[in-house]
Amino acid sequence: MKFIFVTGGVVSSLGKGLTAAALGTLLENRGLKVALQKFDPYLNVDPGTMSPYQHGEVYVLDDGAETDLDLGHYERFTSTKLTRMNNLTSGQVYQKVLNNEREGVYLGNTVQVIPHVTDEIKNRIHQLAEKSKADVIITEIGGTTGDIEGLPFLEAIREFALEVGYNNAIFIHVTYVPFIKAAGELKTKPTQQSVAKLREIGIAPHIIACRCEKPLDKELRQKISMFCNVPVEAVIEAKDVDHSIYEMPLMLQRERMDDLVCRLLHLTTPAPNMAHWQEIIRKLIAPQHRVRVGVVGKYIGLQDAYKSVYESIIHGGIGNDCGVEIVQVDAEEIEKFGADKMLHGLGGILVPGGFGERGIEGKILAAKYARENKIPYLGLCLGMQIATIEFARNVLKLEKAHSTEFDENSPHPVIALLDAQRKVTKKGGTMRLGAQPCQLVVGSMAGQLYGSFVIHERHRHRYEFNNAYREKFEKAGFVFSGTSPDGKLVEVIELKDHPFFIASQFHPEFLSKPHQPHPLFKGFIAAAHQYIHHKPL
Ligand code: GLN
Repeated sequence: MKFIFVTGGVVSSLGKGLTAAALGTLLENRGLKVALQKFDPYLNVDPGTMSPYQHGEVYVLDDGAETDLDLGHYERFTSTKLTRMNNLTSGQVYQKVLNNEREGVYLGNTVQVIPHVTDEIKNRIHQLAEKSKADVIITEIGGTTGDIEGLPFLEAIREFALEVGYNNAIFIHVTYVPFIKAAGELKTKPTQQSVAKLREIGIAPHIIACRCEKPLDKELRQKISMFCNVPVEAVIEAKDVDHSIYEMPLMLQRERMDDLVCRLLHLTTPAPNMAHWQEIIRKLIAPQHRVRVGVVGKYIGLQDAYKSVYESIIHGGIGNDCGVEIVQVDAEEIEKFGADKMLHGLGGILVPGGFGERGIEGKILAAKYARENKIPYLGLCLGMQIATIEFARNVLKLEKAHSTEFDENSPHPVIALLDAQRKVTKKGGTMRLGAQPCQLVVGSMAGQLYGSFVIHERHRHRYEFNNAYREKFEKAGFVFSGTSPDGKLVEVIELKDHPFFIASQFHPEFLSKPHQPHPLFKGFIAAAHQYIHHKPL
């Protein structure tokens, strides 16, 4: 079994996760079984309690783990199946070590970062290796070299590589080579210093992946090679992609990164067949059709907050050979300027998940606008609850209908706390989480889109449709097209007299891939195209 460690230097947000995922794509297409995992040095047990401003999206797995958004890249770029084993935080490590200490596991010893914390970290790599039976394990270390928090992780992977032998483990360092406008050139010094920092703690990277805005010429590659002590061929140019992150695997392949990785790890495999990725890129660069859809949220302008939603919309486009322009609409601006001004001309309107009251009324106005003007609407989690509240207020005339999340005293609590949540007081990892089965109604739009009637989708919520109102809604043309198998929890709703108005309590965006667009997103983009161009795709 072989191990690849990916570290980052100079600045954060370099796309380490994407680099790891794209390398995973190439290795998989060489016929290797790949498993990816992410280590996050922060002290939260998981990112579930962090604001999107701190952390971007929280990515949910089948087993209900709330994880880093890089795991989303791993699932979208490879066929690796992820569980809570694939994301480890310092918080989890310390929780484990301290529990061990109280139980007497270390009786007689002083508990220390080395070896107790580092051993726990190494264990996690071994556990994944054992469980996944992969040929190659790619482990990405979050944060930037030089962070105090990251040190135990770096020490652990240094020891790990020593233990499994240098033919079995390599280090890839992703750095930044900034373009300095005044000098008109790319600068290598930050990369040199970041590698020096790594070497100080005993890690000598085998490959340096250089993020840059301009091409890395031969001279610069030689300079990095010399100062960072790697062969020239191990200096990889990872230039900003022109169109889409899905170009990454092809870009790394052009740089022969996968080839080099295989040589370093003594893996004999054929060159990857990337024909299907090339077709995906073709559809992204030169699609046959085009459409614009709006995403109405409150973290607009924060690229990472709705990451999987944006990606899934793009996948829906790929599935229809349709380029999608995503218009990010601030829900509070709809409150200020009105829905028509903010949403006019869009092919479809999507309201994603969310928590907290800010922007809620704007989202309700967006759902109303979509319903009344017969514009395709896709609601995800909160987006389903919003559609329900809107229908209650404006069609059923239930004045002040609301979710009890936002108005505990609403006379018409059409969305209310899940029964199972009533006794929950702790905030971490206590929502209704992960994959749950859902039964679709025969003849519904949801059933048609999925082409099957029992589906499994990932959840992350505390509130649900209040069944006391089911009959009233049904009579007015609100369709409950998906429920939990016992019929008790509403999972999918749609509208009868509307070309495409559908919303789910679950998060379909966690199951979409560029080569397997999720049916709800594929249907949404097809409907958006039809709405704007008056013809089906
Ligand atoms: N805040 C809502 C709930 O907890 C919706 C959650 C979400 O959109 N993920 O039910």
